[in-house]
Amino acid sequence: MIAKDIQSGVERLGEMIAAASIIVPFTGAGISTECGIPDFRSPGGLWTRNRPIPFDEFVASQEARDESWRRRFAMEATFAAAKPGRGHRALASLYRAGKIPAVITQNIDNLHQQSGFAPDRVIELHGNTTYARCIGCGRAYDLGWVKQRFDDSGAPDCTDCGEPVKTATISFGQAMPEDAMERASELSRSCDLLIAIGSSLVVWPAAGFPMMAKSAGARLVIINREPTDQDDLADLVIRHDIGDTLGPFVGN
Ligand code: NAD
Repeated sequence: MIAKDIQSGVERLGEMIAAASIIVPFTGAGISTECGIPDFRSPGGLWTRNRPIPFDEFVASQEARDESWRRRFAMEATFAAAKPGRGHRALASLYRAGKIPAVITQNIDNLHQQSGFAPDRVIELHGNTTYARCIGCGRAYDLGWVKQRFDDSGAPDCTDCGEPVKTATISFGQAMPEDAMERASELSRSCDLLIAIGSSLVVWPAAGFPMMAKSAGARLVIINREPTDQDDLADLVIRHDIGDTLGPFVGN
């Protein structure tokens, strides 16, 4: 059912939140646009400006690695300045109230952690861009370390094993993190309400979780200003701004 206006959508969502005991949010880039981080697929989004660099290209070419880090550092001021928005803060309130055990996110911006979720309660399907990892041995590096080496001699390699160092994100063509996928499946199957927020639901396998929750008997709410392929499955669709929709749930 599509909410006829934002007011009735918020009211219905409030009833569904009150009736649920285990709520799992599934978030995408749309929850962070009000924090100044562009999404991929809206007009002017990152997708329209930069073709993503697939994992095999990153591995194969120093040039691709240099370009990848150039883009990352070009975004640093944006990521560093971003603060949790109304959507993040509303979810953090419901987490503190014991209604949300963990959030499943496609985002890489660390804003759920900043809003008050314990790090192990944020299930990152696509990793995190606020630090780096060696793609060989997995050693973590901070971005300051990478930047220094990058400025001297381009994209750096791991000092332990010599393999390339990459943002701790999952690129197209890179294996999904097994532990995160497993935990996301368990949560999707055990919740009684899944709220998909700001995702175009076109990036797979992440986009499978809302329908997995629905098939397992949960109610499904989709909050996104554009239609998605899963709207027909949802018990409630709110096609309005995320901050305006979730703002009333901040601070419960
Ligand atoms: P997407 O860009 O494909 O879709 C975002 C959706 O949110 C769009 O349908 C858009 O209409 C909607 N939206 C944007 N702002 C909104 C608002 N204020 N109110 C309501 N709706 C709004 O994003 P995705 O589905 O998350 O997939 C893109 C992938 O790119 C992600 O998996 C993620 O890994 C990565 N990404 C992450 C970030 C981030 O961490 N903030 C930003 C860009 C891309």
